[in-house]
Amino acid sequence: MQTLAVIGSTGSIGRSALDVARNLKERFKVEALACGHFSPLICEQIKEFAPKTVAINDPAGALELKKAFPGLEVSSGGEGVASLGDSADVVLLSVVGLCGLDSALRAVRAGKRLAIATKEVLVSGGELVFREARKHGAEIIPVDSEHSAIFQCLMGSGRESVKRLLITASGGPFRGKDKTFLERVTPKEALAHPVWKMGPKISVDSATMMNKGLEVIEASRIFSVPAEKIDVLIHPQSIVHSLVEFRDGAQLAQLSVPDMRLAIQFALTYPERMPSPVAWLDLSEIGKLEFGKPDMENFPCLGLAYEALKRGGIFPAVLNGANETAVTRFLRGECGFMDIPRFLEKKLEKTNNVKDPALEDILEADRFGRE
Ligand code: MG
Repeated sequence: MQTLAVIGSTGSIGRSALDVARNLKERFKVEALACGHFSPLICEQIKEFAPKTVAINDPAGALELKKAFPGLEVSSGGEGVASLGDSADVVLLSVVGLCGLDSALRAVRAGKRLAIATKEVLVSGGELVFREARKHGAEIIPVDSEHSAIFQCLMGSGRESVKRLLITASGGPFRGKDKTFLERVTPKEALAHPVWKMGPKISVDSATMMNKGLEVIEASRIFSVPAEKIDVLIHPQSIVHSLVEFRDGAQLAQLSVPDMRLAIQFALTYPERMPSPVAWLDLSEIGKLEFGKPDMENFPCLGLAYEALKRGGIFPAVLNGANETAVTRFLRGECGFMDIPRFLEKKLEKTNNVKDPALEDILEADRFGRE
């Protein structure tokens, strides 16, 4: 029996992770849960999984939780959430944003397995998190479906044999649209993703293609592959989750129906494969899979992410911070959809790079990006 902490338990990935834990009860005991606010959902999760400790970012919410569950160990604020980083054998990190960095560092410094879905942490603080993981013998297993696919395709192959990573992208809800259309996109339209059900931040990132850009940076960090060896492949059906091309010309791909529980479960049980509730893939039913090139002209966020990755240092952290602000402002109706890449481009222009950034440099770059 292994213990499991789910940091970000009320979000879309967190809920799927608890579904995985529910199906693998004999293998995982949910030890800790963390979320942003008090809600009926967190109360239900506590009743069902009986964790030892729970952290709520919002201090008022933590007080309410203490009232509702007098015997429960409750902590609050960013420090409370971060403190759960080393609370279990396996830590699943699925909060949105760089606020997950402390939890990630706590987990790897304690030598735990970190199953990571929070791409902002790997984009902005990836170098640091991997350096610490190597030092402390911690495992980092990606939960994002594309990176899980690449991770699975690389099993048993040496890095020297890798020629290229091919990250698939559905293209988002506005694939094929032109600039005139994109200028007028509303938050409501941007939140309706054709394949995956996701939170608001990642849905907007999917619509701008920034999600794919962040995933390119993330892949570079996780698999130590430079930008030139990572390509984006448009694949609207989201059945092929990503591919690896090897130096002999072979390409390996991982396929399944689009269901996040597969990647989550694999990150928890790796290297073992266990039965899962994920539906079987029937390619004869699907019949046809399509592939194409990304539209870099109408979706400039993708190119900006490549640029940030190539420049390295604090550029990815600035890009990520600026993107979080731009998306929030767009969702509030304070700016247009195409203002997101305009804002990011300006930020990158004004950035003075710092090579091999330490934690303070990353946090400062993030702050600069956000302002
Ligand atoms: Mg993804």
